[in-house]
Amino acid sequence: MERRAHAMLFPFPCSGHINPTLKLAELLHSRGVYVTFVNTEHNHERLLRTAGALRGREGFRFEAVPDGLSEEDRRSPDRTVKLYLSLRRSCGAPLASLARSLGDRGDGVPPVTCLVISGLVSFALDAAEDVGVPAFVLWGTSACGFVCTLRLRQLRQLGYTPLKDESYLTNGYLDTPIDWIAGIPPVRLGDVSSFVRTLDPQCFALRVEEDEANSCARASGLILNTFEDLEPDVLDALRLEFPRVYTIGPLAAAMHGRSQEHDGNGSAAGLSLWEEDAKCMAWLDAQAPASVLYISFGSLAVLSLEQLEELAWGLAGSNRPFLWAVRPGLVAGDRGADALPEEFLAATRGRCFIAEWCAQEEVLRHRAVGGFLTHSGWNSTTESILSGVPMVCWPGFADQYINSRFTCAEWGVGLRLDEALRREQVAAHVEEVMGGVTDRAREMRRNAAVWKAKAEAATAPGGSSYESLGKLVEDLWLGDD
Ligand code: UDP
Repeated sequence: MERRAHAMLFPFPCSGHINPTLKLAELLHSRGVYVTFVNTEHNHERLLRTAGALRGREGFRFEAVPDGLSEEDRRSPDRTVKLYLSLRRSCGAPLASLARSLGDRGDGVPPVTCLVISGLVSFALDAAEDVGVPAFVLWGTSACGFVCTLRLRQLRQLGYTPLKDESYLTNGYLDTPIDWIAGIPPVRLGDVSSFVRTLDPQCFALRVEEDEANSCARASGLILNTFEDLEPDVLDALRLEFPRVYTIGPLAAAMHGRSQEHDGNGSAAGLSLWEEDAKCMAWLDAQAPASVLYISFGSLAVLSLEQLEELAWGLAGSNRPFLWAVRPGLVAGDRGADALPEEFLAATRGRCFIAEWCAQEEVLRHRAVGGFLTHSGWNSTTESILSGVPMVCWPGFADQYINSRFTCAEWGVGLRLDEALRREQVAAHVEEVMGGVTDRAREMRRNAAVWKAKAEAATAPGGSSYESLGKLVEDLWLGDD
């Protein structure tokens, strides 16, 4: 019987890891790889409800392993940390035994030939070793974000972080220049990562990040949702440490292209806690080309009431139509659109659409959208680049600072808001990005069109991401070497 590569994929169980891993699973499957996508039991049913189209495809199966979390821990405000620790404690053995048993059941399923994991589940590298198959890591951030995360260890050892006290957050210390990270141009300390801002003397989150990134060196290969033209210097530097780096992004483009080619369907289903508002697309249809600002802060960010109001009044001041994704929980105190001031809604009636959650990739591709106010999450950034939409950036967590730095200073497709939001600056930046007639504004919109073309070329047949995916599929057999 002809042997077939069988990739078992296991992401950290949150939507930011599950969704890109699911996209990668679909891409591998489209290139003939047999795929088993492993969820935690807790997410299994929820994910299958939204991944219906993938279910029942030949050579694409779902399995589940327990996450070991108690119901009490699941409700704790610390649940992500508890989940991380619980997975490390209890998930390796079930994962290894699942990998061993597949292919051994006499049901035509080929033996597992490799593991593909996301970040934060490095314990699965031991499981792969146990089973005797190679493991690959899909690290979901930019290459610049990954390199900066690797260097958190040196920053800690050199005493840059943790901060001595809270005054260091505002006394200019975060502006300290950092010019020794290979592949990264000189940046402010505060832009390397949000984790340098920690005041925790034990540096728990910081150590988890640095350990997880550094443990990728144990994998057979590192997969990144970026493309060669976008981060060439960073990738060159990274390859001195990681000989096998596969750049297969933007994943959104690869999926879009594939679904058009094959079945005309949308992009991969994913795990979302919120339902997409279909009415916002009809609203966009009625707007003039490139006239609308889209605003979203992803799935995790939480704004204070003051920040929300400053933003809202900035948008009101910009005089542009806008579509704002205000998910429940975006505002502190587990609030959402109910926290928007009445006067703001009255002042912007007719030119604003508030949705809980949008089909963001589709929104960004819509001809009416001319700008994106974003938290610079990596998925959002790549989706915007792919759509040729310039950005107003307001980063707040993890790699968002370095993504924003690259978006504005390296790729020239964005303007950054100060950390302390001011409505005047929000209005001015939105106006400049969308309608500015200065050289800088024109250049930004021109750059956005150039990056869109480069992203499309990278993922088209013969492009760097397309070829890199092909190489990855070949290398999934590395265990046979
Ligand atoms: N997203 C969406 N609808 C929304 C807001 C966000 O589909 O209304 C998606 C967006 O397309 C992206 C993801 O949520 O793929 C957010 O990922 P990102 O890395 O930008 O931010 P995170 O949620 O990890 O902070």
